[in-house]
Amino acid sequence: MNAIPCLILTACLLAAPAFAADAGSPAPGGLRVTWLGHAAFEVVSPGGTRLLIDPWLKENPKTPAAWKELSRFAQEKPAAILVTHPHGDHAPDVPELARVSGALVVSTGEHLRAMKIPEAQHHSVNVGGSFKLGDITVHAVPAMHSSEPGGRPLGYVVTFADGRSLYHTGDTGLFGDMALIHELYRPDIVLLTTGGARWGMDPKTAALAMRKYFKPSIIIPMHFGTFEPLAGEAEVRAAFANDKRVRFLTIGQATVL
Ligand SMILES: [Zn+2]
Repeated sequence: MNAIPCLILTACLLAAPAFAADAGSPAPGGLRVTWLGHAAFEVVSPGGTRLLIDPWLKENPKTPAAWKELSRFAQEKPAAILVTHPHGDHAPDVPELARVSGALVVSTGEHLRAMKIPEAQHHSVNVGGSFKLGDITVHAVPAMHSSEPGGRPLGYVVTFADGRSLYHTGDTGLFGDMALIHELYRPDIVLLTTGGARWGMDPKTAALAMRKYFKPSIIIPMHFGTFEPLAGEAEVRAAFANDKRVRFLTIGQATVL
């Protein structure tokens, strides 16, 4: 989506609970995933390579206050910021985060130019492309969505030195080529868009995607409950009833996987 009604955001900001933020040091030997609300995540690889994915933080009604201070990323420098598409609930903080952190910014070339990211920080990708960064490899995969003013929507699969892989779906509907994403990368951990409404997979369809196309050991629902009319947590839990692979992360708290 492009615009969120300010009234809803303001109401959500007032209602948002405060969580203690993690101090943010790398996790040697472990893969550390921190949900920052909506589709935003920090991922730190077992070797300490730090990524931000779709870091919509300042106006995100679910992001804890400590994570809205973008200056923290001058110390906790991400190696790269992965952006799935330009919409207002994914990308608006990326130019400031790039300035503060000096990180590489990963998206389509069209989107990087639209955001006016300094060329030295451009790391353009497109569907089917991959690159190595520290101890990880990042693969750009399709997402079925839209992308204004240019480029195209993406998902990302990150593979780690221990053989595991993590798939951030971006915003997407269900599509048959998810079977190829599974065949190529066999993601063990899926950060799965589930909120649906008018913009993507609803919880039942997201659960179908996992049954039909993937065999992950951990499913982490995201992009739900942030604002109306996205599905809420109860609806997501109901769609995945009794699926022991599903983990609801506490926003702002690191989980070692
Ligand atoms: Zn979105």
